[in-house]
Amino acid sequence: MQIDVINPATKRVVETLNRSNVEEVNDAVATALQSFETWRQKTSEERGVVLHAIADGIEASATELANLIVSEQGKPLPVAMMEVGGAVAWTRYNADLSQKPEVLEDSEERRVEVHRLPLGVVASITPWNWPLMIAIWHIMPALKAGNSVVVKPSSNTPLSTIKLVDIVCEVEPGLLGFVLGGKVAGEALVTHPDVKKLVFTGSTPTGTHLASLIAKDLKKVTLELGGNDAGIVLANADIDKLASKIYMSAFINMGQTCAALKRLYVHRSKYDALCNALVDMAKAEVVGNGMEEGVTFGPVQNKNQYDLVTSMIRQARDSGSEVIAPELPEGLDGYFIAPTIIKNPPLELSVVCDEQFGPVLPVIPYDDVKEVMKDAIHKEFALGGSVWGEESDELDWVVEQLDSGTVWINNHAEVLPHIPFGGNKLSGLGVEFGVEGFLENTRRKVVSYSKK
Ligand code: ADP
Repeated sequence: MQIDVINPATKRVVETLNRSNVEEVNDAVATALQSFETWRQKTSEERGVVLHAIADGIEASATELANLIVSEQGKPLPVAMMEVGGAVAWTRYNADLSQKPEVLEDSEERRVEVHRLPLGVVASITPWNWPLMIAIWHIMPALKAGNSVVVKPSSNTPLSTIKLVDIVCEVEPGLLGFVLGGKVAGEALVTHPDVKKLVFTGSTPTGTHLASLIAKDLKKVTLELGGNDAGIVLANADIDKLASKIYMSAFINMGQTCAALKRLYVHRSKYDALCNALVDMAKAEVVGNGMEEGVTFGPVQNKNQYDLVTSMIRQARDSGSEVIAPELPEGLDGYFIAPTIIKNPPLELSVVCDEQFGPVLPVIPYDDVKEVMKDAIHKEFALGGSVWGEESDELDWVVEQLDSGTVWINNHAEVLPHIPFGGNKLSGLGVEFGVEGFLENTRRKVVSYSKK
């Protein structure tokens, strides 16, 4: 069976690729294992040099990578260039991480060190929203720690990942392999006995299913799963200052970002002013094919997502909520949805309770922050959350109440290479980024010297 990679801005096939069968998955793991045996012998500094050479290769291919991302994913070219820039930054951050044993005690009685060893072959399974950047998030810390990697990109967006594999293998052959497909290739990969860790970004059902398949082997797992991030705008928030940041954190990448703001709760005193500002920003977007000059807002990535998000908007309209969106330009034939603001949605509406993962933001007015927090804290998900306002006891209280992996104040969806990022509850297991994320790609060996 084949994979048709579709350009979501045109619905045309960009490329047709073969799915990997189990034999091909086995071959990819065998090649990665062979490469691991030499890669693990290198020092951390030597691996750092290789990662910087990979970053150079990504920079040299930046335009090609960005074009591939636009054609398979749909985002506007400047956003794709930003994605490539992020890929370089995360690669260089990991290149520079040092990996010295940690000394826990050095006394007359003993010296105790913690050494960190690589795991072996790591399986990476990535989604279709930030295909290159998320692959980099998985791959680079794993490589720096001395592992080799086999990546399985989403069948919707494999092209930029395949190019990345080329770039890596030009620097260090065999270090990074790829397989293509969904369940067959993915499950064969993660359950392969020579694969020692899974790092997965995607939906909660798929992530928990894959983790359950390998639980009996006690393989390491890092999961970055669904979310339904809430933002709470306090009565003392400066709307003029914050509105554009709020807009960006909800509509970045057409809302298809794990840690985007997905539900906005606004104190009634600021409600109309903020909604008006958000609607003005939505109207200013230039919706179209991401390859065209001046376009700021592309399609959603695939038909399923288009159907899901448009049905949520329809439900909102049927519920009597005010649905505000600019007209789409004529002549578009892709999975386009205009940036949409939903005013006064009932709290039980799907677009409020469930993750929309698309360009639609429900904005809910509130009078009492204590009351609204009961709804803002999601029963299942806790990836990110934010509070917007001036310093106050109320702001501190909201920060304390939010139970997400990250709480932003006057910001949302900001991720950085050196700051750990991960979800609580059903939003994930473990973290990525920073030293903590890096260490998830290692096994610990405590070395204890007795001095007496
Ligand atoms: P979505 O497609 O909504 O982002 P998924 O969790 O279905 O979320 O997909 C995320 C990644 O997981 C993709 O690379 C997809 O191909 C992969 N995937 C989906 N189902 C399986 C499975 N049963 N085994 C392995 N990988 C899978």
